[in-house]
Amino acid sequence: LTQREEYFVIIVGLDNAGKTTLLERIKALFNGVQGLRPDQIGPTVGLNVGKVDIGGSRLNFWDLGGQRDLQSIWEKYYSDCHALVFVVDSTDRSRIEEVKTTLDHVIHNESIEGVPVLMLANKQDLPDALKLHEIQQIFNQIAVSLEARDSKTLAVSALKGDGVREAIDWLHLRLQ
Ligand code: GDP
Repeated sequence: LTQREEYFVIIVGLDNAGKTTLLERIKALFNGVQGLRPDQIGPTVGLNVGKVDIGGSRLNFWDLGGQRDLQSIWEKYYSDCHALVFVVDSTDRSRIEEVKTTLDHVIHNESIEGVPVLMLANKQDLPDALKLHEIQQIFNQIAVSLEARDSKTLAVSALKGDGVREAIDWLHLRLQ
């Protein structure tokens, strides 16, 4: 019996960013199981978890609720995590400042110092979505400390699945 390498990845972002949809998409892509239908998914209020096996690794994803009053519960998960996924709703221009503040807060958490950070510009299937380079510019403004770490911003549609496999492959390579 071979022992799988086990990794923990936390998914964070504001409420409505698409975290739940992303996790269901990841499970469907890598486990071949039928995820929840988009209309069955409500805002994340607790903790959604998913396990996927990729090659010899098991990735455990934790989708942490994004609502402001729940953000304090993120803290206890940080210390165990090997990578961070930060999901942004690329269509929500009104919350860009909130996104920046949240990302800034998250990446400065001591417990996750040095872990790879994957930022996902989600909802790219929608015509009014900010383009990848626009999202990258926004992140660059705050993320001086991101330069020093292993990070990447990718465009995805969690709903349609575009870019999700590539995103998880990037993550998987970083974990090995
Ligand atoms: P969460 O609060 O971050 O877990 O966000 P949800 O996964 O519940 O998604 C919030 C809303 O955005 C839902 O109506 C989803 O169907 C929708 N959504 C999530 N990802 C996408 C996407 O890639 N494209 C589009 N068009 N809608 C999305």
